[in-house]
Amino acid sequence: MPTGVDAALGWLRREEKASIARLMDWLRIKSISTDPVYAPEVQRAAEWAASQLREAGLSVEVCGASTPAGVKGHPIVMAHSPGAKDYKGPHVLFYGHYDVQPVDPVELWESPPFEPVLKPAVPGGPGERIVARGAVDDKGQVMMFLESLRAWKDAGGAVAGGVKLTVLLEGEEESGSVSLEKFIRDNTATRLAGCEVCVISDTGMLARGRPAITYGVRGISYTEVTLHGPDQDLHSGLWGGRAPNPNNELVKVLAQLWDKDRRVTIPGFYDAVRPLQQPEREEWRRLGFDPVEALKKIGYGKDADVGEAGYTAMEREWARPTAEINGVWGGYTGAGAKTVIPSKASAKVSFRLVADQDPDRVRTSFFEWLRNRTPPGCRWELTDLHGGPPATVKTDSAPLAAARRAIERATGVKPAMIKSGGSIPVAGLLNSILGIETIFMGFGLDDDRVHSPNEKFEIDCFRLGARSHAVLLDELRVVTA
Ligand SMILES: [Zn+2]
Repeated sequence: MPTGVDAALGWLRREEKASIARLMDWLRIKSISTDPVYAPEVQRAAEWAASQLREAGLSVEVCGASTPAGVKGHPIVMAHSPGAKDYKGPHVLFYGHYDVQPVDPVELWESPPFEPVLKPAVPGGPGERIVARGAVDDKGQVMMFLESLRAWKDAGGAVAGGVKLTVLLEGEEESGSVSLEKFIRDNTATRLAGCEVCVISDTGMLARGRPAITYGVRGISYTEVTLHGPDQDLHSGLWGGRAPNPNNELVKVLAQLWDKDRRVTIPGFYDAVRPLQQPEREEWRRLGFDPVEALKKIGYGKDADVGEAGYTAMEREWARPTAEINGVWGGYTGAGAKTVIPSKASAKVSFRLVADQDPDRVRTSFFEWLRNRTPPGCRWELTDLHGGPPATVKTDSAPLAAARRAIERATGVKPAMIKSGGSIPVAGLLNSILGIETIFMGFGLDDDRVHSPNEKFEIDCFRLGARSHAVLLDELRVVTA
């Protein structure tokens, strides 16, 4: 009889159909967090996850949560396993979310979003897969972890493989995690006490069959700016050339955000940016990413491979900050011509940030930069929409090394070490409040249609992920915290 991790892996192999069936049960619950109509379903999805954790032997609470302003939020599921007596590894926090995005446009779904179906592999295309809202983001990825816990318990091993474990599953990730920060602050010394490293499965692999560990995500600062001019819309024949036009003035100011090398011109913007080291650049080059191929997929030719001078496309995505105008509007935008000078003009401007930039500082210096360029007679209205710090993990930490070994043992493939240009604000939050780093061990693919119709999760990805988590629990036991 195999014991320990071998027994758990054998269990995952034998019980895979049942694991997938459980995932499908969870996917049938319509836990759309942003729409209050679905609040009872969100609650049900939380209770469902709680029951899974309970069956895996953990002690579980479904906690109430609320925003700093006291608005009631969706529940947060917390679970604990004390760890084996002789456990010397780190106290691990696993974070995931059980809420999902809305399903519209629903007519583009080939099967109803909350009636998960198993679809066969397509030659040269996606493998056998589950199609449903939440299949990969994030129920499917959380389920890999839940099933690895169940495997350890049911195969006769210790609860959570003997690892000292805290689990936090939130229900507001897809609607801004508005209660999470307060919950973490309120529970730092209680439910979250002692956590030393976080594991999140909400990221992707490098490609099919090429598992990866994401060791950095970018932060974000998102703003809205409005430039107010005259107290009324004006006739451009009578007033054009006589007084500032907010549209003209806004675009003139925003165009100064980049210099000729496409570097952001806000003073101090790059001060906190960790410089890219040569070994890291070489490692990334060896991943074999083809920027021209990627551009082709979005309808661009190779001359579009431009960005901050001196960096490759991958470096620009993974290790350099950016400024983007996400929307710009003002004046007449309907059909035909209307000769108007608007009273105001607006833009949404966001910054993706890298370690160790601080979103508050970036926003403050952007607003200061705008005020120093206030066009004559005009005034700014400046709004902070949201922000979150970047998160980068040390690549030489013992838990990260354990995760690398786990993936290699579980899948037979050395994981690629990658970063992501996207933002997972919870990682930065955990870092700034609890002082812990996050290992992103995700098994999604870039064609999983996250947030879109026909979202899918491939069975092979689920399998690699469940096995990797089971072995990670084993590897953590030999790490000394
Ligand atoms: Zn999502």
